[in-house]
Amino acid sequence: MSPDPVSDVETAADEAERMTPDEVVAALGRERLLAAVGREVSAARDIADILDRVLEHLAGVVRFKGGSIALIDDGALGIVAARGVLDPAARDVRLPVGAGIAGWVAAHGQAYRSGDLDAETQIAPAARDVGSNKLIRSYLAVPLISRDQTLGILQIDSAEPFAFSDADQELLEAVAAQVANAVERARLHAIVQAQTRALEQQNEQLRATAEELTSQNNELRAVTEELLTQNEELLLQRRELAARAMRIEELAALAARHAAELDATIESISDGIWIVRFDGSLLVNSAARAMYGLDGLGPLEGIEDVGRLMEVSYADGRPVEQDDLPLAHALRGEHIEQRDEIVTTRATGKRTPVSVSSSPLRDASGAVIGAVSIHRDMTRFHETQQVREQLLSTVSHELRTPVTSIKGLVQLTIRRLRRDGSAERAMEGLELIEEQVNRLVSLVDDLLDVNRIDSRRLELHLDRLDLCALVRLATQRLQTTTERHQLRVQESDAPLWIIGDAHRLEQVLDNLLSNAIKYSPAGGDVEIAVRAEGEEAVVTVRDHGIGIPETDRAVLFERFGRAGNVAAHGISGFGLGLFISREIMQRHHGRLWLAASDETGSTFALALPSCQ
Ligand code: ADP
Repeated sequence: MSPDPVSDVETAADEAERMTPDEVVAALGRERLLAAVGREVSAARDIADILDRVLEHLAGVVRFKGGSIALIDDGALGIVAARGVLDPAARDVRLPVGAGIAGWVAAHGQAYRSGDLDAETQIAPAARDVGSNKLIRSYLAVPLISRDQTLGILQIDSAEPFAFSDADQELLEAVAAQVANAVERARLHAIVQAQTRALEQQNEQLRATAEELTSQNNELRAVTEELLTQNEELLLQRRELAARAMRIEELAALAARHAAELDATIESISDGIWIVRFDGSLLVNSAARAMYGLDGLGPLEGIEDVGRLMEVSYADGRPVEQDDLPLAHALRGEHIEQRDEIVTTRATGKRTPVSVSSSPLRDASGAVIGAVSIHRDMTRFHETQQVREQLLSTVSHELRTPVTSIKGLVQLTIRRLRRDGSAERAMEGLELIEEQVNRLVSLVDDLLDVNRIDSRRLELHLDRLDLCALVRLATQRLQTTTERHQLRVQESDAPLWIIGDAHRLEQVLDNLLSNAIKYSPAGGDVEIAVRAEGEEAVVTVRDHGIGIPETDRAVLFERFGRAGNVAAHGISGFGLGLFISREIMQRHHGRLWLAASDETGSTFALALPSCQ
């Protein structure tokens, strides 16, 4: 179409002036045709319908027998609109682009117009297809081109030779141009519609997907909410569990503390404790281990170990069977109260008299879950008992001797006085009586001192004293009791000051000097030395008496400790002097010991802290 309609009209007018009347009519028909085609193609109708109408209009202007419009689809021409075509089967033929004349036009995008098909045997082979149809003598085909692309062809034919003129071809080409536009538009429209449909479908799918997602989302939300609820419950449970765990830990710590306290208590008890625990294991406290000397003998794992390590007997010596052990009784739910036993540790032979009590350990329901046994060491008790018995027999024996002798002397003196009334003879008797009474007094004094020592009531009255002076006085005092002994003192030049109880220190010195005299029955010298040694004041007393057998030396300072050789020499004594003297020295922070002894005599020594 020309861009300038005015000039188009002018040009048409010019041309009309040069035309014959027929030509003018024809031209007008053409113009009307094109206008009609223009209207048709711009109508919003189905393309096949449009093309039908175009052919109808064309038939009104150009005389043809058959006309059709074929469009290229998938590399082949297919007839979309046709008019006057006799062979109906031709409508369904799909002609590949390039095949036959129609195919040639479609492939090359050029028009083809035959003269007389019968005469034109030299035309392209494709023309023969049309030519072979005896009814067709003329054929005109023009390509439908839009934007340089061939979309199909517009073809007409006629049974007359040379039926189509140049003008027909031009007209057909003009119509083809409009048709091509319409086809292009229709195609675009179809594409757009297809795309729109596809989009709508996609949209539809998306909506469906969105709906599905929404419903899934809802389900997920529900699941999430449920999970959140469960999570909260779990959190609560966890918190509760954590609180319980903490409580359990606290209780465990408390139990551990109680157990530790109990262990410490059991360990600190001075009685021996044996516990059979719920698992059968044996707990023995350190007092029990020390009591029987069990340390180093390996662990005690159960009650069976008792028999392995120790021999248990009743006080009368009968063995105690394993079943009869207090712990065994307690494990059977029975109580044993203060049963006297003697336990002998097999490994060492150590013999321990004990008083045993045993009780079952029960749980809350009263079931026996173990047993506890308490062993009290009765060694000291037995020793005290022995000491008492010994004291009683010694004291009664020692008292009996002077009392008997006093009794005899009194009777003798009375008889003498009655018989001859001699006061001189009576005096002899009285002096002997006095001597025996003094012995008695001394024995009673010693016993009182032992009692004071035992009850920790030995009191000291401390003074600053010169030890040399004390020794000198004691020597003089004791020298008067003997004529067969010579007491010789070797003093230091200067006084030796000490802090002490004069009376108690005289008692110690008297004990040492009187022993030196007593245990030297043959008489002889007693050498006494007093000197300072370092920080101490030391006194030694050496006699030339009977000496002390080595085996007896350990007992001299024990109460009632006497050497074995004194009996042979008939020397009486109580064995209390050295025991009391050592106690007095210790109370003065001093020492008393046997410095030397053999068959030629003994040397006792004492030392006291000096004071300036
Ligand atoms: P007592 O002389 O009354 O027996 P002591 O306690 O004074 O008691 O002495 C204990 C024992 O020590 C004496 O029995 C004796 O066996 C021994 N003893 C003490 N002094 C001497 C000594 N100088 N020589 C030999 N033995 C002595």
